[in-house]
Amino acid sequence: MPNNNNEPWTTQQADKIYGVKAWGNGYFDIDLQGDVVVNNPLNETSNPVSLMKIIEGLKDRELHMPVLLRIENILDQSISELNETFNAAINKIGYGNEYRGVYPIKVNQQAQIVEEIAHFGARYNHGFEVGSKAEMIAALSTIEGTDSLIICNGYKDQEFIELGLEAVKLGHKCFFVIETLTELPIIVERSKVLNIRPHIGVRVKMTSQVGGHWSATSGDRSVFGLSARQLIQAVDYLKEHDMLDCLELLHCHLGSQIPNIRDIRGGVVEACQYYSDLCQEGAALSYIDLGGGLAVDYTGGQSSTGQSRNYSLAEYCEDIVDTIKHTLDAKGLAHPTIVTESGRATVAYTSVLLFNILDVVHFESEQIPESQEDEHQLLKSMREILTYLKPQRVQECFNDALFYRDEARELFKRGQIDLRVRSVVETFYYGILHQIKDTLNKMDRIPDELEGLADSLADIYYGNFSLFQSLPDSWAIDQLFPIMPIHRLNEEPTRRGMLADITCDCDGKIERFVVDQHVEKTLPLHEMLPEQEYYLGVFLVGAYQETLGDLHNLFGDTNVVSVRLNQDSSFDFVKEVHGDTIEDVLSYVEYHPREMKVKFRNKVEAAVKEGRISAKERQHMIKTFNASMQGYTYYEKEEHQGQDDLAV
Ligand SMILES: *Cc1c(COP(=O)(O)O)cnc(C)c1O
Repeated sequence: MPNNNNEPWTTQQADKIYGVKAWGNGYFDIDLQGDVVVNNPLNETSNPVSLMKIIEGLKDRELHMPVLLRIENILDQSISELNETFNAAINKIGYGNEYRGVYPIKVNQQAQIVEEIAHFGARYNHGFEVGSKAEMIAALSTIEGTDSLIICNGYKDQEFIELGLEAVKLGHKCFFVIETLTELPIIVERSKVLNIRPHIGVRVKMTSQVGGHWSATSGDRSVFGLSARQLIQAVDYLKEHDMLDCLELLHCHLGSQIPNIRDIRGGVVEACQYYSDLCQEGAALSYIDLGGGLAVDYTGGQSSTGQSRNYSLAEYCEDIVDTIKHTLDAKGLAHPTIVTESGRATVAYTSVLLFNILDVVHFESEQIPESQEDEHQLLKSMREILTYLKPQRVQECFNDALFYRDEARELFKRGQIDLRVRSVVETFYYGILHQIKDTLNKMDRIPDELEGLADSLADIYYGNFSLFQSLPDSWAIDQLFPIMPIHRLNEEPTRRGMLADITCDCDGKIERFVVDQHVEKTLPLHEMLPEQEYYLGVFLVGAYQETLGDLHNLFGDTNVVSVRLNQDSSFDFVKEVHGDTIEDVLSYVEYHPREMKVKFRNKVEAAVKEGRISAKERQHMIKTFNASMQGYTYYEKEEHQGQDDLAV
């Protein structure tokens, strides 16, 4: 990063380029030592905890990188903020009913997350939204108390419906949200057989279009929800079976990550219209469920673009409460219980992916080689370029350098120059490009073709993680996550780099970062130091990343560790889940580790028989093989191995 005014680098500058305050929601900050720290949301006066302190603790416990770190207090705080902010809006606006949140399990199904939400959320009667039998079973077995809601979405078969009816019998407020008309006869029939009055909801198809990545979830083409005609059929069917009083809830879901508050307001107005008309039809509605959509500001830009949001939580809650109140007051209807199904905003902040950098590749010009009497004509021509390199002629210099480099490649193919000459040409080429880049820095207008030159000369930092396993949305939908070094932030980051993971897949890289409020292809990073690990964090990864990930190149689940911050600025390691071993991932793809070990033993035994290795060597090979099978799938550094071993 250019630091124009030559003043010493400060952590404030680091905060500005990495935007910690902008996306951190008060949870994350940079301390004077230059470490990223976590603020204790429960106690403003306690000292924040440095992520590097946590990493020290992980090292002592031999929990190797990459590690998915969960900060449990942040999860608790997100639930409490959502409930408290809705309650405050209800009080402020004088709304005549309450708020009931439910957590949609699909957003992060990990038991530790779901159990913590059930446990902490009980004080707010925070319930669950489930979309499958498996999620239903998870919800039923973890939910505490019977005052929290269970909302069943998704296509429901008879077994799913019976589970739900049994939940009602146990006293739970469990709703079946009708997604398709085929579910209705099963619900009616089963509840008659089991003699239980079901709680029924209907999911309506919204015509309001919303911006953001998931805009296809809403509107006429949405695959979810009942059309106006189907709604009327549902009402008539329930009336026929004398069960219209069971229709208590109206459900809609505009989509996830809705960046613009005006879209949310528009959706609520439409939902209220459905609500009042269904009441007029005789339904006994008393719940309005607005689904998910509460966005996370991944870029910290506070804007209405896809990965941000142009509203605060308070604004979201007040707009919803206010819109329902005014729309229904005008129709003389009682205020329903407000339900939302916020997933992303509830769990995104709680998890941070931590990893170390394994290696860096620089596209650096070494010194431009001294001229030699007998050097190749190509090198002479390239040396020429430097004599006319000035702002007016940068494009020409670039064209020429490229021409000679390509010429060298052609000659090499035809055997007319050797590998050594070609290597000098490439060094020259990068040397010239760097000088062109320096010239561009002094120019006001940069020729179009040279816009991306600096990026193409950036370093590649190789991180010890798999994009496919840990950040699937970064790969699949270009999701931006805040990424930054978590220490040395009191030093100026003098390098620019893109990130590559360890899968060796050409898609396994990150080339979009938010830097000083702009999306850029490279991230400011520090020079690697010998003998010191360099750690990066990817933040806000608690939503949707953990189970969407796959076993690309057979990199498995990472180690997962939960910490809890205490009132007195200390912290505890409360839970740990060891990541997959090589044996684990092999068995996921139907290998049989036990048989593999036997086969390997037979192979080395045969080698002993043939006199190629000794029995002692055999023993060593078997030990190494078995230890690898039980090892972590990621890059493990041996104790004696310093940075030097990695230099190429
Ligand atoms: C996915 C989903 C949610 C969660 O949405 P977020 O935007 O993550 O809060 C809520 N309700 C339904 C029906 C969903 O499909």
